Amino acid sequence: MPPYKLASRDFHPDNTIIRVGNVDIGKDVVIIAGPCAIEGVNFVEQAKQLSKMGVNILRGGAYKPRTSPYSFSGLEEEGLEILAEARKQSGLPFVTEITDIRNLDLFCQYVDIIQVGSRNMQNFCLLQELGRISHPVLLKRGYAAKLDEWLLAAEYILAEGNKNVILCERGIRSFETYTRYTFDINAIPAVKTLSHLPIIADPSHGTGRKELVIPVAKAALAAGADGVMVEVHPDPERALSDGGQSLTMNEFKELISFLGRLQCRTIRG
Ligand code: PEP
Ligand code: MN
Repeated sequence: MPPYKLASRDFHPDNTIIRVGNVDIGKDVVIIAGPCAIEGVNFVEQAKQLSKMGVNILRGGAYKPRTSPYSFSGLEEEGLEILAEARKQSGLPFVTEITDIRNLDLFCQYVDIIQVGSRNMQNFCLLQELGRISHPVLLKRGYAAKLDEWLLAAEYILAEGNKNVILCERGIRSFETYTRYTFDINAIPAVKTLSHLPIIADPSHGTGRKELVIPVAKAALAAGADGVMVEVHPDPERALSDGGQSLTMNEFKELISFLGRLQCRTIRG
């Protein structure tokens, strides 16, 4: 047995399937979309449009871990309220990031899927607390984490009893600076071999450049990803965070129409 016993495919040969809203994550191809951060009530309109386009799950940060303390760090509880209103009006569940264990009760009240960001992948106390609830957890890969470290982080959650863990490849730091991070395409089939947990691709953070998002999303799906999570903003140039990697609604339509044409199961075997 590998050290991440509960996360390993040796221990659990069948794919883990997690039902959220209208999708079975781990079986269906899931589309998660929304802005990097919730910036205001305009998000409710965007959510309704995303729902009509065929998105399965909304995304948007209310608590944003930022490299600089002077950057916009989210609307906090007001952001969660806006996400909840968007859920009501669009019919779609949402994923949003937790940055502080002290907000766990609040997240349990509001949130459908709790995201652990790259910077918190090895926040072991946070992982253990998330293991004691039953909400699905989207565990992003630390940007300098090896696959075994990532799967061991998942193990922290699983070992406490929460089996609803979804992995998210979001790029790793390499010597390349043209892109923000290097999307690790290898990680998709490697994790599928090593683990039964679903894996979602985040080509937005994985590249940091909007023109690369759709090609890398396609590559990740061809490599066997269970879905994609993409940053989409109505006006990326004015976005308060990650505008350079955010697609406009029109650009995002291209990815949606590709997914429609693809009949993903065919390419994914
Ligand atoms: C995000 O999803 O907006 C985010 C901050 O992601 P990461 O933790 O991968 O940087
Ligand atoms: Mn972002």
